[in-house]
Formats: sequence, structure tokens, C-alpha cells
Amino acid sequence: MSEAKLTGGRLPAAAAAQWVCPHEKSAAQGCVTCYDDSSAAGPAAPVWELAVWFTSERPMPIAALKDVRRHGGRFALDQPSTPLVYLLSGQVRAATAAQAVAGLVGFLLANRHVVDAFVVTEIRAVHRTVGGSGPIAGQSLMV
Ligand SMILES: [Zn+2]
Repeated sequence: MSEAKLTGGRLPAAAAAQWVCPHEKSAAQGCVTCYDDSSAAGPAAPVWELAVWFTSERPMPIAALKDVRRHGGRFALDQPSTPLVYLLSGQVRAATAAQAVAGLVGFLLANRHVVDAFVVTEIRAVHRTVGGSGPIAGQSLMV
């Protein structure tokens, strides 16, 4: 697995551009359209294994975290250890990493009853081969 660390604020424009989805939304801010698209993506679309760390203004009740596990299906929402820092992870099918991340963060936008205000602090995206033989490339972004 090769992995590139990209640091926000010092990104060359070309590198930053890949983290904007086709609907011109920043991947870190999420895109509901990409979220909807990811639900409908066919089996030919690449699979991205994603992890997004974000901070929430208010603590999320444990019940809300469990609710995401139950209804989100494809995604998991966890609180690693630090208060107000959460980890959203899951597999998303999308043509590009930016679309996949925008779709995963779009899940938060579509679930405002769980998270009303959030700031994404780190993104990790690993591209899996369709055959599932493991990660072939990874990108992570500190925002
Ligand atoms: Zn989008």
C-alpha cells in the first residue's frame, strides 16, 4: 500500500482539486448527491475504504452512535477516545476518492438529527481492487 499524506493549506492546486466532487463540493464538507450516488453505484465502480475523523460541537449521545450502526448499514460511527472527536468509516463505491469521501461525509449531512455541526479534521481513503485482494493505493488528507 502506498500512501500519500496531503496537508491542508499547503496543497498544490492540482492536488487539492482532486478532493472536490463533480458537484463542486469540497469532499471534507460532504455532498448529499454523492451520498445518494454511492448508494446507487453499480458493482463495477471502484470500492474505497474510508475513514473520516471529525469534531462535533456537541457530544453525540451513545444512543445516536448506535442508531447510525443500526440504520446506516454500510457505515460505522465511533468515538475513538478524545471527547467530541468521532470516526466515521465504511466502504463506498465511487469513481474517485473525492466522490467517495464527499459521499461518506454526505451521510452526515443526510443525518442532521445525529450530527448538527461538524468539522472534518482528517480523511483517509484506500482504494480496494474490485476483486477484494486488498488495498492498492491510499491517500489521506489532513484538513
Ligand atoms: Zn457531489
